[in-house]
Amino acid sequence: MHLAPRIMVTGGAGFIGSFLCERLLDQGAEVLCVDNFFTGTRSNVAHLMDNPRFELMRHDVTFPLFVEVDQIYNMACPASPIHYQFDPVQTTKTSVHGAINMLGLAKRTKARILQASTSEVYGDPEIHPQEESYWGNVNPIGPRSCYDEGKRCAETLCFDYHRQHGVEIKVARIFNTYGPRMHPNDGRVVSNFIMQALRGEDITIYGDGSQTRSFCFVDDLVDGLIGLMNTDTGVTGPINLGNPGEFTIKELAELVIEMTGTSSKLVQKPLPQDDPRKRKPDITRARDTLGWEPQVKLRDGLEKTIAYFRELHAAG
Ligand code: NAD
Ligand code: UDP
Ligand code: UDP
Repeated sequence: MHLAPRIMVTGGAGFIGSFLCERLLDQGAEVLCVDNFFTGTRSNVAHLMDNPRFELMRHDVTFPLFVEVDQIYNMACPASPIHYQFDPVQTTKTSVHGAINMLGLAKRTKARILQASTSEVYGDPEIHPQEESYWGNVNPIGPRSCYDEGKRCAETLCFDYHRQHGVEIKVARIFNTYGPRMHPNDGRVVSNFIMQALRGEDITIYGDGSQTRSFCFVDDLVDGLIGLMNTDTGVTGPINLGNPGEFTIKELAELVIEMTGTSSKLVQKPLPQDDPRKRKPDITRARDTLGWEPQVKLRDGLEKTIAYFRELHAAG
């Protein structure tokens, strides 16, 4: 007999997924964490293993999965450019076949499903800030396309399973998120800058550093994801989840230098192809629908993230 909700988190051993598993367990749920450990690790969820309501399963979501659950958070997918471009065909398969399998599972079990989509569906945006009604400016054949188009197709599948089969869907468009347990070598800007600062290496700015991003601390994001999952049946999204505070990459570098007290210098490297010029979420819909907005300021979130990477660095 099951009294607690049974919640599956795919990609649950990853950065965001591991915080989500932790929070759902705190709320009393039974949590099934499904992960193929491509970028996630057992150590991200090691502290949950003793909890009798937690289960970890090695599985690749591109293959069918038959389990009985009440809710699905479909987070599985590498999220950093280095990792999603390592095997781009597998990235598209993870988003597309993964969504088909998880939506098929949701259809059979009548589970609710939340799809982790991304601000990358807006591509290099022509409107600023980005609101959900914007259809995006995405290159379909470039090096980022496996990620962007895979996620766009996953959104399409969600809405078609909803319209055609009545599956209860929630689509979250997640903007740049950072915090402890980010992979130190995944090439994302926050982890790169902090690791470079701690090692006393040059801080690598791609391009002139005038491109902008909006950085959301992982605790805030997890609040938003759980809030969205628990909205009324009619709410499907898509809903932007992110922090509207916008910073240039150069500003971020300077803040990391100041906060770590490093002697590292800024150096410029070529800007990767199709790198979006700017990005900032319009979160009106999330505010109105979920009563949600980020609470953690960049400086406070960076402090916690730097502390995590310091420990990792000290441990060698
Ligand atoms: P992450 O790489 O740390 O986590 C992804 C997890 O998915 C990893 O544990 C990985 O092993 C697992 N995974 C990958 N392919 C899989 C497969 N085929 N089957 C099973 N598991 C698989 O990344 P993250 O930052 O935690 O991102 C989680 C989700 O949020 C992703 O879907 C990502 O696209 C989305 N997202 C993240 C951000 C961000 O800034 N971190 C922004 C937008 C969207
Ligand atoms: N699927 C799954 N788990 C389930 C139910 C379905 O992995 O509990 C997979 C199934 O193998 C199929 C996909 O989800 O490949 C889509 O399922 P759907 O029922 O929509 O399609 P069909 O089985 O009719 O092709
Ligand atoms: N970036 C950078 N130096 C780095 C890593 C990234 O200047 O060492 C830039 C990158 O070109 C992009 C921004 O920082 O403009 C955010 O990059 P990230 O890969 O973290 O996320 P995304 O591009 O997917 O938003």
